[in-house]
Parts: sequence; C-alpha cells; structure tokens
Amino acid sequence: MIENSKGSKLRDKVEDILSEHSNSELPFYDKFSELVHELQTYQIELEMQNEELQKSWKDLEDAKLKYFDLFEFAPVGYYSLNEKELIKDVNLTGADLLGFEKSELIDSAFIRYMNFDSRRIFYKHLMKVKKTLTGQSCELDLIKNDGTNLHAHLETLPIQKDELDFRITITNITDLINAEEALRESDGKYHSLFKSNHASMLLIKPVTGEIVDANPTAASFYGYRLEELVEMNITDINVLSDEEVFNEMLKAKSEENNHFLFKHRLADGEIRDVDVYSGTIIINGENLLYSIIHDITRQMEVEYALRESEERFRLIFDQSPIGDVIVDLNYQTLHVNNAFSKMLEYSKEELLSMEFTEYTHPEDLDINLHYLQLLRDGKIDDFELEKRYYRKDGEIVWAHLHVTIVKNQLDEPVYILTMIEDITERKKIQLALQVSEEKYRTLYETMTQGVIHQDSLGRIISVNPAAEKIMGLNHYSMQGETCNYHCKAIHEDGTDFPEDKHPSMIALKTGKEVRDVVMGVFNPQKKSYGWINVNATPLFKPNEKKPYQVYITFEDITKTIKAQKLLNETLIELRRSNSDLEQFAYVASHDLQEPLRMVANFTQLLEKQYKDKLDENASEYINFAVDGAERMQELIKDLLAYSRVTSHHEDFIEIDFEELIEEVLFDLEIIIEENKAIITLDPLPIIYSDRLQMRQLFQNLIGNAIKYNDKTPLIHISVKKEDADWIFGVSDNGIGIKSEHYERIFQVFKRLHTKEEYDGTGIGLAICQKIVERHGGRIWIESELGKGSTFYFTIPLKQDNQGLI
Ligand code: ADP
Repeated sequence: MIENSKGSKLRDKVEDILSEHSNSELPFYDKFSELVHELQTYQIELEMQNEELQKSWKDLEDAKLKYFDLFEFAPVGYYSLNEKELIKDVNLTGADLLGFEKSELIDSAFIRYMNFDSRRIFYKHLMKVKKTLTGQSCELDLIKNDGTNLHAHLETLPIQKDELDFRITITNITDLINAEEALRESDGKYHSLFKSNHASMLLIKPVTGEIVDANPTAASFYGYRLEELVEMNITDINVLSDEEVFNEMLKAKSEENNHFLFKHRLADGEIRDVDVYSGTIIINGENLLYSIIHDITRQMEVEYALRESEERFRLIFDQSPIGDVIVDLNYQTLHVNNAFSKMLEYSKEELLSMEFTEYTHPEDLDINLHYLQLLRDGKIDDFELEKRYYRKDGEIVWAHLHVTIVKNQLDEPVYILTMIEDITERKKIQLALQVSEEKYRTLYETMTQGVIHQDSLGRIISVNPAAEKIMGLNHYSMQGETCNYHCKAIHEDGTDFPEDKHPSMIALKTGKEVRDVVMGVFNPQKKSYGWINVNATPLFKPNEKKPYQVYITFEDITKTIKAQKLLNETLIELRRSNSDLEQFAYVASHDLQEPLRMVANFTQLLEKQYKDKLDENASEYINFAVDGAERMQELIKDLLAYSRVTSHHEDFIEIDFEELIEEVLFDLEIIIEENKAIITLDPLPIIYSDRLQMRQLFQNLIGNAIKYNDKTPLIHISVKKEDADWIFGVSDNGIGIKSEHYERIFQVFKRLHTKEEYDGTGIGLAICQKIVERHGGRIWIESELGKGSTFYFTIPLKQDNQGLI
C-alpha cells in the first residue's frame, strides 16, 4: 500500500515535470536534474520501503505462526463452517471440547453434534446470522464423543467470500452454570443462615478482630445500627481480657467444643453473659471467623434458681405421700419416689428396671395405654384414671392416677409425670357400698312395702315403685311435696287425718319412731280409699339431735282391713246367730224335757199296767220307746248343759284346784270304785275360774278316762306353767284314739263308738272345749291307739274374776 501510494505520487510528480518541460521557459536540463534527484530520492525511498516490507513480511510470518498457536490453543473452540454447514476447520480446543480428533470432525455436518432441541436453536441462530449478516450468539447443548452433553455458548460470524462461510467460537459454559447455581444456592444459604437468622451472628477477621459483617439480630441485640457494627472491632464488644479469652479457648479445646462463655458489652454499656459458638468460614478466599451469640444472662440467673428449685422438687418428689413416677415417651421409667416403691413393695431399683406394664393389671392396661397415646399425640394434656396394680406379693392395689405430660420450653413433650394415690381401702369400701347399695336398691325397687324418704320439712325426696302403686301416684308428682298434699287421708273411723299428725311429721317433730299407724289414703287411680299401715323412722346425722330426714314404710292393708271388717261383721252375725241358737237350744231342750218326761213316764206306766195284756212284741216295742225316751232325755240334758256354758255361767272366783278335784272324785266315787281306777295328781294351783264349769270339765275328762279304758284305769292330773298359761293334763292308760280323729272328737254329737260299745252322747268333749275357751284357753289331745291318751288344756295365768286380764 505504501509502495502504491508513494509510487503514484512520484509518477504524478514525474509526469507533471515532463508536461511543464514541453510548455515552459525553463531549460530542459534544469528540469531533468531535478527529476534525477527526485528519482534518486525515490530509489532510496524504495529501498527503504523494501526493507520495511521485508521486515513486515517477517513480522507477518511470525504473526502467522503466533496466530496459528493462538488459533489452535485458544481457550475457546473455533469452528469454520461452509455454506452447507459442513465443518471446514476446527481448532484443537474445539475438537477437544467435543472429544474428537480434528480429522474426524472435518467435513462432517456440524449439526451431527447436537440433539433435536439444540438443532432447532442452532437453525434459528444461523438464520439470524444469515439474515443480518452480523455476528450472533446462542447457548445450546452439544453431544460429545462419549455421549455426554456439553453446555456451550456459540458466537457465529458470517464471512462473506465467494460463498457465505461461518466462523463459530464455542465456549464451555457447563462450569459457569454450575458455579452460578452454586453461587445462587450459597448466596441463599448465606442469606437465610446469616442475614435472617434469629440468633445474633458476626463475621470477624480472625487476626485483627474487625467485624466484617453482622446480621440484623446481632445489631438489635448489641443496640448498634448495622452500619456501625460492621465498622467495629470485636474487642469493642468483648470485655474479657486477652488472657481470659485465651483461657476460654483452652477450655473449649479441652472439652472439644466450639462454645465459649464471654461477657459482651451492649451499646448502652450493659454487660451480658453470652454463649458464643465459633467456627471458620472461607468467603471470597478469605478465612473468616463466624460467631453465633446467645444471650445467656437470664439463663444463668434462671439456672441458679432452677438448681435450687430442682433440689426442692427432688425433696418433695421423694418425700411426697403420693406415689410419683416419671417415664420418658417410650415409657422407660426415669424416676420413682419412695411412696410408690412402698405402695407396690418393690425397691426403687426394681421399679426403675421394670416397665409399668409389668405391674399393671391386664384388664386396665388397654385403657391406660390408650390415654397415654392421646397424651403423646398431644390430643390431651393430662388425664385421670383409676386402675389396679399388682403388688410384689401379688395383691391388688387400687390407685387413682393423675397423669400429665411435661413439655420443654419449645413446647415439645419430654416426659410423663404420674401422681398415684393408693385408693385400695376407699375402693374396698366403695365396692362394699356398691354391693350393699345394689342390694338396697333391688330391695327398694322390688319390695312390696312402700318406702318414702322425706326431708326435715316433710318434703318428699324419693318414692319407691311400691309406694307409687299403693298411693296410685307417680314419684314425679310427689317429689318436693309434703306427705299429705296429694290426697285425703282418713282415720279408720272415717275422720280426717290432719297433715301434722302424719307419722312422718310426728317422727320429725319428736325424733322418735312411730309404728303401726293405720291410715286410709285416697287412691286417685282407683278412686277409692286404700288402707295402709305406716311406720316412720327419723334419720339423724352423727352428733345431731334433730332428724334431718325421715323415711316411712307402709304396707297396703286394704285387703286385710276389708277382711277384718268382714270378719268382724261375720263374727257379730255369728255371735248373734249363735246366741239365737243357744237360746233356741236351751229353750228347746228345756221345753222338750217335760213332754219327753211325760212320754217316758206314760210309756213306763203302759208297760207296768198293761204288761199282761200285751203280747211280747208290744212289750219289746214299749221297751224301745222307753229306751228312746230316756236316751232322748240324756241328749237333751247334755245339750242343755252345752248351751248353759255360755248362757248360764257364773263369775270367776279363786278356786283351789286340789279341793275342786276332790269334789269331782267324790262325785265320781261310784264309777271309780267300780273300775278300781287309781287317780294321782300334781300339786294343783289356785286359779280364778268358773267353779261349776271347772268341775264339769274335770268330771268329763276323768269320766272318759275311766270309761274308755279296758284295763285298770291309771289316771294322772298334771299341771305346769308355760309362757303365759297353766297347762293341765289328764292322762290315762285307756284305749287311745287314732290321730286322724283328734279334731273330730271335740265336735257336738261326734263319737267314735256305738252306744253298745261305750255309752254316751258325744257332747262331753264339746262342753269341755266350750268351757276351756270361755276361760281363754284351748284344748287338745295327744293319744296312741291302745296305749292311752292325754287331754291337755290351758288356762291363762293372768285371770281375775272377769276372766283374762
Ligand atoms: P261320749 O263320751 O258321751 O261319747 P265325749 O264327747 O265325752 O262323748 O267323747 C267323744 C268321743 O271321744 C268318745 O265317744 C270317745 O270315742 C272318745 N273319747 C273321749 N275320751 C276318751 C278317752 N279318755 N280315751 C279314749 N277315747 C276317748
């Protein structure tokens, strides 16, 4: 270029001189010498230029060599593509990037080294280059020889020669991206760890102690602005001497930890105890010290207090009369106190080596575990439970448990505290009470007796079903009311029963039991009066004289009362008809006696006077008639005697029974002698009684004892006191009777024998029974067939002239 420009300049100059020479006044010679000079100058110039050119060429050769190295070993890959996008040239770095030899790549299609996605990116990219004919860049993945991906940055330049070529530089950006990501990650980590940490954090230069960074927590803790803090030195904050710091560090080293206990000064001058956790960190190639600072001033104060309270707690725990157990969340026993050890009779060591499931009653285990699970799951904070433990000797211990979950400051459950009260005694009583309560309740519910509880004012507290039924009311309507509100109550005579005379009110007023009060109570369901027999019992609290409650029990005696009434009426009716009958019997027997006597007398007269004139048959008939009449007389006499027992009697007087028997024996003298009967007596008492009737009683009994006897009669009259009675006995060694006839023989006209066998009317014993009953006693027989009989009768001890007292 130099040559050209200079050459043309010189030529222009030579041509100018030549044209001037032909036209000007100057002599040609002069012009020529000037030109030669010029030429010489030019030659020298040319020589110089040549030299320069040679030097440039050499430089160029050098540069070419340099460029080649540069091209081949540049840190980026160079690819030259032709118009068909075949690789025409590639530098070593480019081939290396794809893991091929240069020769393998030359003339191959560039897109061979891309996946589908990357090809699309590449085409787009190339289109842009072609369109704009300016350099463009893109990022895509190239496939390396070993199949792995190369994340690459491409810059493509269009080279317009005969045809359009492309020069592509390829840079491996995989590491860059990774690094970027790592940076982002570490930045994030650093940010979240350091900047937004709730703990105070400082970054310090280890040698100088300069604070290079601090987080907002640290700034607010120390009371400085963040900008101030990062200008300070750690010695502005740490008040310990170098020696003390050194000692702390030694201590940390020996304990193999990174914790130091320092004293830091805040902006306001206050000194705080801090726990510093330190470690080294490399940031931007610089070794730094990071410190995490915890204010433990309060903790130190609390720790002291805590130690004290812990000691106190341990004392309380151990001395507590209530069993205390602490287990961890896996139910491993951590602590047991003396009371619990005593309760189960295991030593503390034994308990610590056992799980509570081992000494829990199997029936109570499931519910216990269920609640513990709820506790551990945080669904409940505590629970109470009654359960059974097995004592070491196998006995059951009933316990009331209060179980609490104990949490740490972070509200995380740490262990389970159980307080255990021995309730075995209480449980025993409770169970016994339950049984008795159940018994009482069953009785209360099912008994036929009505039971009503009333308070001190007579208001009804409870009513049992029987009471509801008897009263014809339900307990809802009765509760809270006084006893008489609901119905009219009456006495047996039909007069009103005032409320204040009700047995329960009397019992409350007097504090005494009231018994057997008969009341008529109107039953609204039956719409009639029912009769009840009421007892009222006052109830007292210990050491109180006034009853606080009363309960009444009553029976439905409506039926009894009705029956009694009927009985009374029947009795009255019976008495009346009986006395009518007696009257009739008396009148009849009395009035019959006369005509009968006439019949007997005249028949006898007939027999006497017409004896010879009548035939044998007639005499026999007359005999029958006489017999009949006499027998009739006997009957009527006895009947009269029977009716006279009640209608014609005397007052009771004191009678010496020994004398009485003497008289009787005198009356019976003839038959006694005839039968050679032997009669013996106990010493006999003096008793108020009807003399004639007593005589008749003994006459009948002794007479029968002689009559119904087939041996020499041995008769004994005994007497003894039993309860409220004299019991007399008249025993014999006679024929005796079968037990099935014991009752019958006391009925009127009832006999066990014919007239031919034993004479008699069958009224004797009926008279005896009537006499005994009139004296308030009873009569019966004990006998054995063929061996003898004893007739017993009683007379009450307490008799006076009117009979029974
Ligand atoms: P009676 O002697 O007139 O027949 P009782 O009324 O005295 O009437 O006696 C009724 C019956 O009791 C007698 O018929 C007799 O069978 C029996 N009986 C009474 N006393 C005795 C006795 N001591 N031993 C055996 N049987 C007796």
